[in-house]
Amino acid sequence: MGASMDPFVVIKKVPFVTGLLEDEGLIVDGKPTYKILDTEMFKYVADTLLIESGVVSVLHCRAVDAIMEGNTIKGIITESKSGRQAILAKRVIDCTGDADIANFAGAPFRQDSKEKLMEVTSNFSVSGVDLIPFVTDSIRNTGTMKDWGYRTSGKEDDMASSVLVEPFKKAQRDGMMPKDWHVAAYWAGLTEHGEILSMNTVHMHSIDPTNVWDLTRAEMEGRRRAILIMEALKKYGSGFKNARIRNFHHSLGTKESRKIIGTYNITEHDCINQARFKDTIGICPEFIDAYHVLYIPTTGRYFQVPYGITMPQKVENLLVAGRCVAGDKISHGATRQINCCIVTGQGTGVAAAVSVKDNVTCRNVNLSKVQSKLEGQGVRIA
Ligand SMILES: Cc1cc2nc3c(=O)[nH]c(=O)nc-3n(C[C@H](O)[C@H](O)[C@H](O)COP(=O)(O)OP(=O)(O)OC[C@H]3O[C@@H](n4cnc5c(N)ncnc54)[C@H](O)[C@@H]3O)c2cc1C
Repeated sequence: MGASMDPFVVIKKVPFVTGLLEDEGLIVDGKPTYKILDTEMFKYVADTLLIESGVVSVLHCRAVDAIMEGNTIKGIITESKSGRQAILAKRVIDCTGDADIANFAGAPFRQDSKEKLMEVTSNFSVSGVDLIPFVTDSIRNTGTMKDWGYRTSGKEDDMASSVLVEPFKKAQRDGMMPKDWHVAAYWAGLTEHGEILSMNTVHMHSIDPTNVWDLTRAEMEGRRRAILIMEALKKYGSGFKNARIRNFHHSLGTKESRKIIGTYNITEHDCINQARFKDTIGICPEFIDAYHVLYIPTTGRYFQVPYGITMPQKVENLLVAGRCVAGDKISHGATRQINCCIVTGQGTGVAAAVSVKDNVTCRNVNLSKVQSKLEGQGVRIA
């Protein structure tokens, strides 16, 4: 990523702020301890990776049904500007996040009532932030994870939390926004241009991410809330006087919807007790964030990710990857994390390829072969 996205370029020129960042361990030996991703450039990088690896991409297109022969999936039906079309496939990997294809194929899944699902989120980015007051105030008045009442492993309790709450408490006190809104600004990606690339602030409960009416309502309500949040930050926040919303999210963020019932359903116990599996396809650090349970990966502890959580019951030659893999409520806080989605994505891709090559179903694939192919690609599986 370009050096222009180094968040500390300007900050380093402001000795007072640099000192604060050093105290917090954010700058060590003059170097920032983390980099932010240039999210816009990453889209181009992803396009390039797909083109270079020979993937045939079809954008602006939705899967709307599964083509079945008995209990074996043979492809999907799509709808797009080109109309209704079919894509036939020897193997299908459902990466819709919501297990749409598994649902169309008749695979068993679970989905809690919307009142019990994690919230949906309207992220936005901000420009025009005055760095000195913002960084000073954020670091000086930072709280700890303990303030949030999370159930943790213990080590997280005294960790600093970059969550902004005070401006919204004041806005709610003064009647600027409803008191029942759950507002807390998890901010990330502060750039040298006074931008905050991710304001993860608008959290809306009781939305069913598989219902178009709920999605529409949340999409529009999310923008309304973001604007009120920005007004509250301008009035009560530090460094936001001249700030404005740079852009809204490209779409609503879903944290939880359908989860397949797998041949194995991973558990909270597995995720926090370094579970080991014969059918491992990769490893994930002990990282859980859901339902007020928080484990931050700082120890090197990890669990192995079993192939079984990607394998739906009853349907052949269908695998799922990403947040809809099988598991219990708390383990979802681990398997929904991007690093685990990457593991299940790569693992299912390799398993599907090996099963085609060997002319066996995904369920009967030779796992040692899958594992050695993954290791050959540099994946750590044990
Ligand atoms: C606000 C927010 C903050 C988060 N922060 C973090 C974090 O800091 N760290 C972390 O590790 N994780 C984080 N997560 C979790 C993580 O980002 C997600 O769980 C993960 O990206 C899910 O990936 P996925 O590929 O399974 O699903 P998605 O990212 O939801 O991707 C699914 C894709 O499939 C497409 N699609 C859906 N249905 C269809 C269909 N029928 N036909 C065709 N295409 C379809 C969608 O348009 C989308 O592009 C966050 C999540 C949210 C919402």
